[in-house]
Amino acid sequence: MSDTTTRPIDRTQMQVSDEVAIDIRNMNKWYGSFHVLRDIDLTVHRGERIVIAGPSGSGKSTLIRCINRLEEHQSGHIVVDGIELTNDIKNIDKVRSEVGMVFQHFNLFPHLTVLENCTLAPIWVRKVPRRQAEETAMRFLEKVKIPEQANKYPGQLSGGQQQRVAIARSLCMQPKIMLFDEPTSALDPEMIKEVLDTMIELAEEGMTMLCVTHEMGFAQAVANRVIFMDQGQIVEQNEPREFFNNPKSERTKLFLSQIL
Ligand code: ADP
Ligand code: MG
Repeated sequence: MSDTTTRPIDRTQMQVSDEVAIDIRNMNKWYGSFHVLRDIDLTVHRGERIVIAGPSGSGKSTLIRCINRLEEHQSGHIVVDGIELTNDIKNIDKVRSEVGMVFQHFNLFPHLTVLENCTLAPIWVRKVPRRQAEETAMRFLEKVKIPEQANKYPGQLSGGQQQRVAIARSLCMQPKIMLFDEPTSALDPEMIKEVLDTMIELAEEGMTMLCVTHEMGFAQAVANRVIFMDQGQIVEQNEPREFFNNPKSERTKLFLSQIL
């Protein structure tokens, strides 16, 4: 298991509120005739840090992509910050402006500078004046510790730096919820920690986070809940200590024996 923490983690702001951030009820999704998500029930409260684990192909990415409607579900309900996800484009736009997403492969715009990557959506979607958008972007680039890279292009940066730009870019939209889909899986080992440290800081500030990751050290240190998926279902969920020390299902035990 990788060692995630370089310093003690400040849990004082990591309070879970009673307020519901995401409510998923009896949700099912198919890709054509393939039933990829089965009867998903999941309630996420504000301030929760949830790690989603499970074998490749179990539906982790599809689940978090459904939460900001990058994928459409076919039955059941998904309510994000009180807004039900339907075909109503207004609702979808509203939810997307409140939910940030960070992908495995960064997905930065290669022809725009770091600063332009960070200001594009605030200027064009949020109608923030350019100067103000640039000030906000610089603040978040400082937060992820790469303000000096602001005028470079993504291709001139290391993978770890690019992923921190991707996180800063999401934060510039002032999201209430952050979704991470294997944010460190494409990184060399020495760069994993710098990205996890950024995620730890977000958690310390009380961000509601859903993270698909194989970084079980991060899960133990930061998550308040670990969800295990297999074959499109949530098989088991628990607080990290119980999840790792006392897994209930055979599928979870097998998975843990393979990764730990
Ligand atoms: P995970 O993130 O856990 O690896 P995914 O959500 O990416 O799993 O995929 C779950 C299953 O759905 C896999 O069997 C995958 O091949 C399939 N799948 C993913 N995306 C598509 C798609 N766009 N069309 C058809 N099948 C897909
Ligand atoms: Mg995936």
